[in-house]
Amino acid sequence: MTAPLPGHTASNLSHVDSAPLLHVDHLSLEYRTAQRVVRATHQVSFEVDRADRFVLLGPSGCGKSTLLKAVAGFIDPSEGQILLEGAPVKGPGPDRIVVFQEFDQLPPWMTVKQNVMFPLRVSGSLNRADAEERAMHYLNKVGLRAFADAYPHTLSGGMKARVSIARALAMQPKILLMDEPFAALDALTRRKMQEELLLLWEEVRFTLLFVTHSIEEALVVGNRILLLSPHPGRVRAEVHSHQYDLTSLGGAGFQASAQRIHRLLFDEAPVQTPSAQIDFSDIRIAY
Ligand code: ADP
Ligand code: MG
Repeated sequence: MTAPLPGHTASNLSHVDSAPLLHVDHLSLEYRTAQRVVRATHQVSFEVDRADRFVLLGPSGCGKSTLLKAVAGFIDPSEGQILLEGAPVKGPGPDRIVVFQEFDQLPPWMTVKQNVMFPLRVSGSLNRADAEERAMHYLNKVGLRAFADAYPHTLSGGMKARVSIARALAMQPKILLMDEPFAALDALTRRKMQEELLLLWEEVRFTLLFVTHSIEEALVVGNRILLLSPHPGRVRAEVHSHQYDLTSLGGAGFQASAQRIHRLLFDEAPVQTPSAQIDFSDIRIAY
């Protein structure tokens, strides 16, 4: 039990405490073209709690991006529902901000600071001085304070990624949605960005819904991982991975978890592995 905070009664807090932030409930998503209907996901259910780093993991084409777009409000469910703090998601909103892989979406004629301020000003949520203060606060958090007046074309890929993350966090969404955000970066920069994302999370404790097809990235970034089957995406299992970070890479436990996830994803015949290396207690299988 959590002790009530000052100013909160136990009853109104219990609602806040018990309801998941995001509840995806038997969600089926389809694309309808003139010729046919493509089912991207089939009855997918999961719950994301506040400050989770929740990862959607599955092979290419299993519907991860489609799921994220549905949570963002760009696609309507053909079956099931999406609830944010108990209320159905109906269209896009500033409480759910997406960071895509294409960082070149940063308008090149605006400085880094103007890029971060832009959505704050457009949404009308802050006046100019407050938007500037908020932008500088988050640029500082991603280590780009000194580059506030630089233009995007002068930045490296990793720096552009950090601007995109600062811009999204500055909106203070209830949930940050990231679709393979580091996939276009070189391997070393990608690792660095994973590390920075975790450090940022330690500091800000935002809620993250993160899409990847990399098992290793899922284990490093996530505290919980939803495994999706190939097309159409169905939930295979949910795995807890809070024990791993970048320092775990290459370790025996990490490797064993990666292998176990690979088997769960691709439905291979079970491989004989020393039982000491594999702990199935944290796994919830759903078919
Ligand atoms: P992932 O992100 O896991 O690679 P997607 O969500 O992009 O998968 O796609 C899931 C399925 O939906 C795939 O079979 C893909 O071909 C199909 N799909 C995606 N976008 C469209 C679209 N705009 N029209 C028709 N089919 C689509
Ligand atoms: Mg995708």
